Amino acid sequence: MTPDQHNNPSSRCRFCEAPLEQVFVDLGMSPLCQTHITPAQLNHMEPFYPLRTYVCNKCYLVQLDEFVTPDDIFSEYAYFSSFADSWVDHAKRYVDLVTQRFGLGTSSHVVEIASNDGYLLQHFVAKNIPCLGVEPAANVAQAALAKGVKSVVKFFGRKTALEMVKEYGHADLLLGNNVLAHVPNLNDFVAGMKILLAPQGVITMEFPHLLRLMQENQFDTIYHEHFSYFSFMTVEKVFAAHGITLFDVEELSTHGGSLRIYGRHTEDSSKPLCERAVELRTRELNTGFDRPETYRGFTEQVKETKRKLLEFLIQAKREGKSIAGYGAPGKGNTLLNYCGIRQDFVDYTVDRNPYKQGKFTPGTHIPIYGPEKIRETKPDYLLLLPWNLREEIMQQMNYIREWGGKFVAPIPETKVYP
Ligand SMILES: [Zn+2]
Repeated sequence: MTPDQHNNPSSRCRFCEAPLEQVFVDLGMSPLCQTHITPAQLNHMEPFYPLRTYVCNKCYLVQLDEFVTPDDIFSEYAYFSSFADSWVDHAKRYVDLVTQRFGLGTSSHVVEIASNDGYLLQHFVAKNIPCLGVEPAANVAQAALAKGVKSVVKFFGRKTALEMVKEYGHADLLLGNNVLAHVPNLNDFVAGMKILLAPQGVITMEFPHLLRLMQENQFDTIYHEHFSYFSFMTVEKVFAAHGITLFDVEELSTHGGSLRIYGRHTEDSSKPLCERAVELRTRELNTGFDRPETYRGFTEQVKETKRKLLEFLIQAKREGKSIAGYGAPGKGNTLLNYCGIRQDFVDYTVDRNPYKQGKFTPGTHIPIYGPEKIRETKPDYLLLLPWNLREEIMQQMNYIREWGGKFVAPIPETKVYP
């Protein structure tokens, strides 16, 4: 066996079921990114799972094997969307845009899948547009209720969709942000969307764009909770297989570069295909997204990104500088574990989410404090783990410049912002 063939022989594409034979990138063994460690757990064993992605040579879906059940990951999820200001603003702009474009009003029915803590639906509540969330994590759904957002506490798929149609009717707008990538049973999920969508309804979904992941070395957005990584071409095939046509697409700057796709029933002729969808499909074809060799170079890009970050950290430590982290996001976990960064480089990290404070990063055991720790210890460098929120964080933490502190972004390649 060659190193590329050590996959489970039963591994098949989660969309088209072709055997998975080509490794996209192998990031070694890593713990689950949301399993922050309590002080009592520090001396216990931690489960590590392979973080090895494949690309399907038939439909080009980049994907991860499923090693853990969604129950393990999502039943008490520590990610509360409302802790990122820019994300809440993004949601507000989206609600204004779709309300106007699709003429939503007090007789519409909006459903959000993976509605989290109500960060988005609260803006529909404010417009008196009836809405409902679907959210598998009970603690997060509870937080939504405090914002006036009602949620069905379930995983979404065909079964949940049928129950929801029966109890609440079809959805005029059915949306899901940063959920499609997290779905283990992709076909069941998209089939459920087809069931729940009203005859002239609209689906919108946002997810990180594979094109940007590859062009900008965003390997740290690969983690166990992200099962699939989509190009526009591939996501179009997935929805088409379930009778949904993507009639429009927007490219967004969120999460390092995301797509917002717009879907309708294939038999609904009231919404013509927009030029943006045709243009993006053509651009991906020109990039070679329909050829296996295009995906082959990514591994070397990832290794080089790691070498550049370690070079910087080693140099800084040799100069006697102190380094603190900012944030404890999922992507930080992949980065720290893959690069082998522990307290030998980063003294501690801080996070605004109180759920994470007082704990340690999974696998690498870097302590997590509240942001006030930065002012107390005055580090020379602040390593931005959620680099996608770089501008927002640099504004919030601007005061580190009082003592000559500098910001460091690790992706797309290590860069210092004085
Ligand atoms: Zn496939």
